[in-house]
This record gives sequence, C-alpha cells and structure tokens, in this order.
Amino acid sequence: MVVPFGRRRVAGVVLAVNVASDWPVAQLKPIEQVDRRAPPVPAEVLGLATFAADYYRANLGEVLLPALPPALRGIKQWRMPKSVNKRGDTGNATDPGAPRSGSSDKYPSNGAGRGATEGGSGASSLTSVDCHPRPGSGPDLPTLTAEQSAALGALAPRLGAGFSTTLLHGVTGSGKTEVYLRLLAEVLVAGGQALVLVPEINLVPQMLARVRERFPHVIAVPQHSALADGERLAAWLAAQQGDARVVVGTRLAVFAPLPHLALVIVDEEHDASYKQQDGPRIHARDLALYRAQQREVPVVLGSATPSLETWARAEAGAIERVSLRQRARAAALPRLELVDLRRGVVAPGISARLLDALRARLARGEQSLVFINRRGYSPTLRCNCGWLADCRRCSAHLVLHRQPRSLRCHHCGAEHVIPKACPDCGNLDLQPVGQATQRIETLLADLLPGARIARVDRDAVRRREDWPQLLADIEARRIDVLVGTQMLSKGHDFPGITLVGVVDADGALYASDFRAPERLFAQLLQVAGRAGRGESPGEVLVQTRLPEHPLFESLLQADYQGFAAEQLAERRAAGLPPFAHLAMVRAEAASDEPCERFLDAVAHTARDFATAGRQKAQRGALQVFDAVPAGMQRVAGQHRWQLMIQSTQRPALRALLAALAPRLPELAARAVRWAIDVDPQLID
Ligand code: ADP
Ligand code: ZN
Ligand code: ZN
Repeated sequence: MVVPFGRRRVAGVVLAVNVASDWPVAQLKPIEQVDRRAPPVPAEVLGLATFAADYYRANLGEVLLPALPPALRGIKQWRMPKSVNKRGDTGNATDPGAPRSGSSDKYPSNGAGRGATEGGSGASSLTSVDCHPRPGSGPDLPTLTAEQSAALGALAPRLGAGFSTTLLHGVTGSGKTEVYLRLLAEVLVAGGQALVLVPEINLVPQMLARVRERFPHVIAVPQHSALADGERLAAWLAAQQGDARVVVGTRLAVFAPLPHLALVIVDEEHDASYKQQDGPRIHARDLALYRAQQREVPVVLGSATPSLETWARAEAGAIERVSLRQRARAAALPRLELVDLRRGVVAPGISARLLDALRARLARGEQSLVFINRRGYSPTLRCNCGWLADCRRCSAHLVLHRQPRSLRCHHCGAEHVIPKACPDCGNLDLQPVGQATQRIETLLADLLPGARIARVDRDAVRRREDWPQLLADIEARRIDVLVGTQMLSKGHDFPGITLVGVVDADGALYASDFRAPERLFAQLLQVAGRAGRGESPGEVLVQTRLPEHPLFESLLQADYQGFAAEQLAERRAAGLPPFAHLAMVRAEAASDEPCERFLDAVAHTARDFATAGRQKAQRGALQVFDAVPAGMQRVAGQHRWQLMIQSTQRPALRALLAALAPRLPELAARAVRWAIDVDPQLID
C-alpha cells in the first residue's frame, strides 16, 4: 500500500485494521493505494519479523521491509512476473556464478525477471509448473560413505517429527552437501519445501546448481540482495505459492515465504556473515532456529568449525550432533606444517620453505594458493623518524596500493597521493611496512619466473561478473599460483590445488575481540581445506612468528574439539558467551564528549533497572560495564564509544533491554547516533 508520509509518499505494509482511533479523525490520513495483487505477507513471516524486531530491539519496518522483494515495497507499479517457468525453458544469460556449461544449470527465474522488467508475456502460469520432484536414485549417485550413512540415519527420522536441532559437524570435503541433498530428496518426495541458507551471495549459485542438478524437475530459487528486482519477486512469489520447493539464499532468505516448509539447513553455521552489521543487527542462524521451532520442523546446522555457541549446546546435550571425520573422497586431509617466520625468510613475508614448496608444485604442474587476508600492497608506509601514514579521519593506518598507486584508508575510503618525502623530516626513503596481496604477488612474480600468478581480492575482482571467468581459468589450469584473500577460502572446490601457504597468521592473535581466535581457527581450517581436494594429498604451510601459540597446536592436529574445549574453558572463566549473554549500546558523534555523556547516562539508567530487577529474583544476573571508546575509536571523523551489558540469564537481559530501549532517544543528544547490538559478534 502507499501512504502519505510528511511531504512524501511511501510504501508500507498494513499490519492491522482498527475500527477506532485515539487520534482525531481529521488528523488521520488515508491509505492512497492498496495493491491487491500483492499477496499478504504470510502470518509466519510477520511473526518472525515481529520476534526479530523485539529480540534485536529494532523497528518492525526496519526488519520486515528489507525482507520483502523490492518490487513489493516500492511505490511504483510492478508487473506480475511471468513466473518461474518449468525448468530449462529460459536461458542462462545473467546468472553470474553458475557454471558455463551444461543445460542442467539453467536459471528458471531469469525469464521471469525479463518478463517483469520488459513486460514479456505468454508464459506458463505459476500453477501449471510441473514441480514433481524426481529425487535422484539412479546409478550416478555417489555411494554414501559409512559416516554419511550414519549421519543420514540420524537425521532422516527427524523429518516430519517436529522441531529439532542437529549439528552436522564435518571436516572440509567430508560431503556435508551430499547429506543435505539426501535429506532434500526425502522432503521433496513428501511434498515439502526446504530452506537452505549459505553465508555469502557468492555461494548461492553453486549450492543452487547442486540442488538443480540433483533434482532436475524441481524448482529451486535464489533469494539474496543482489538479484534483479524481477528475479527476486518471481522467486519470492514462487516460494509463496509453493511452486518453488527449495529456496537457497543468504541472510534475508530466512524470511522467505514457505507455506510447506519441512526442513531448514544452515550451511557454515559459524560464519560471521549471518550476523547483520548495520541496521537491525539480526543473526540469520538464530532466526532460522526460531523459525524452525515455530514451524515445528527440523533444522540442520552444518560446519567444519561450529560456532562455540552451537558447539557448547551440543556438548551439553541440548542439541543432537552427528560427525563426519573423514573426507568423502580418497584424498586424505592435508598435512599442516608451521613455518617459523623469524628465520629462513627469502623475501618480506616469504619463507624459503614456502618458496621451495611453490617451486615443487610448479615443476609438477600443480596449483598453489597463497593466502593473505589483506588487500593492497602493504598495510602502511613509514619513515625512519617514526612517521607513519595515518588516516586523518580514522584511527587507522593508510594502506599502500600500487595498482593504482595511492595511499588509501580501508575504513573511510579516503585516498591520498603517495608523498615523495616524509612530511615530518623530509627523508626521501619511505618504506612499506608488512605485506598485502599486491606485494606478495609482485614478490612471487620475481621469485617464480614464468609462473602464471593471479591475484584474487576485492580490488582485482571488482565485479561479480568476473568470477565465472576466474573460476574457469583456475579449473582449466591456466593459473599456477593464486594469491588471494578470504574471498577464495570459502566453499569453492579446486581439485588442482595441492599447496596452501598462509603468509601471516598472527594478526588475529593480537586482536582484542574475544572471538578473534575462534574466527582465525575457522578461517585457517577453511583455507587449509582448499588443499588436496583432488587426487593428490595437500600440504598446508602456515607462516607465523608465534609458533608456540596453543592455537597452532590444535590447528596442526586439525583438532577442532581440543581447540573448542580450550576456548570454552577460557570463556567460562571470563564470563563470556556462550556462558553469558551480551548486548552492546554503540554511540557515534563528531567528538568523544557527547558519546561518553550519552553512554554514561545509559549506564546509569541501566543500573537503576538492574537494581530494581534484582528485587524480582534476578540477583547478580546483570552487569552493566562502563562506557569505553571502541577499539577503532574514530572512523570517517566519527568518534565511537560502546557500553557493554552482560547477563548470565537471557530473560534478565531481554527485560532490561526492553525497559532501556525506549529511554534511549531522550537520553541521546541530537548529535549522537546510537544503536543496540544484541549478541554482538564483532567486538573491537
Ligand atoms: P563439504 O561440504 O563437507 O566440504 P562436499 O559436500 O562439497 O563437502 O563434498 C566434497 C567432495 O566430495 C565433493 O566433490 C563431492 O561431490 C564429493 N563427495 C561427497 N560425498 C561423496 C561420496 N559419498 N562418494 C564420493 N564422493 C563424494
Ligand atoms: Zn579513514
Ligand atoms: Zn621522517
């Protein structure tokens, strides 16, 4: 519907209709336009959004509107899409991530997208789509490994048996996806729909392709924010009508309308991308759990390195756990080795050991991946006098880039020319400090003459359209060495890679965020998992200046369990999640003072509530810390502060936030922007 709002007209959703109003009739405004073709938002989706708004202390509109296809929330007229055609009726022109060959990878909703935007017509209607599943059972299906069979044996009986949560803990390459596909087969035969969440847009096409390949007659649709409006609408409508039987998507797909929902899968459940970092700070995995519970359907959380929250629940027996400890195909898990960066270095950031290993791969015609999670040439530029290239607007160094040459701030986007001389002492000899992707690429090009090296980071692969070409080049072995950031580490399967080198694993070990070790461990295991996916076993070299660090001990054994036990013991001792629950009030202003004053007032008010709450048998449950500057104190000229609230009891924390949130607007001076972050994931 469209309503007047101030001087503008905006689109909205009718939540309820009242016959009486507390406002004088003259002050009420009419709804200008109601779009009766737009299907009502399903009660379940509304219920989920309402829960999310309450839980994360956000406005319902903030949560609900982004969850709807843009076509339904604009005020422009939209066309009913041509619908999702029977599989294979339409071309594959714009699906960026889908493999280029094979008719089974066609993208059914493309035609719908064009229909919606260009007014195409004459397609089959939604209801005439043949969506009868043909769950694969032919000879082309891989025989399940014993572990996969056992996992399926534990999971399949949960289908149709109400709400349950199962952690599918499987090492990289153990064939978790195959287990998902077998579960989907059962769901589809029984006439159900399934929701499959993946952490990143890049991972949607390949998961979708695997689903479509396995179930060629089933409509499976994507849901993510980068879809064209028409595509997103067509997919949403198809799911809502029950024609699309599988929805594969990112965070926002947790709100997809699925009247016959029978199974929820959250792949890579530990991934921090499931938590939204701006706007309403929802966590899609946690909302998926809530949704599954409301719908009384099972949810499967898959990961090689589960979040410690999920792991702790499995350890406590609160959720089921099934494990895949071996890779599904012949190749064994890669061999990990630590390389001490304090000796035997042949170039900045490159050890002799790594260089030898790279040369050996080149000689054998195998591929290597060199991982460094920093883009640019080097993290900053320095002078002997102590001068460092710092951003004027952020508490951060400027990153040196060589392609094109500039000093750039990765936080505010500021760009400066590289000074010829030190601004402080006039010295002409300014030196790059540390490594980033461009520098490693340059060094390797010198050290490995003739090697075909490709860099993969956000500067080199700017557009989503560049991905298919790159993936094809890697697959066709037109690249010998990949130098890349975490863009490469997730999901993709490169059978030719037999060596992974991690340039510098240490940064995260110094981080103040208590989750940094957890993320580093997951990331390193994930990168390591890229090695030896094909026939030859892989080798992983992790370079570090801190080889004694206990995290590496567990990493070398690929011992997630040991690592998790150690981390959980630390968290328990420190009163951190999952043994306590956190909320953060963040504030931002042009200077420190208003932030501090605001958060002091918030802390004061919170303590009053906490004390009052204590009389209601919540003694000791709540702890309100002092306002402190954020780790990254200044970004783009904005000063940032934060206030942590902790509770051992979730209900106490929720009650406090419910009481506190409505007070924040009056406590905040005009100049202060603030946000509440419930279950914060990144704490700097
Ligand atoms: P994960 O998601 O656990 O990392 P995948 O599901 O991607 O692992 O499986 C890794 C590889 O093993 C894939 O190439 C997949 O086709 C293959 N695979 C999975 N299960 C089997 C099986 N039972 N037999 C043979 N190959 C399998
Ligand atoms: Zn900056
Ligand atoms: Zn100087």
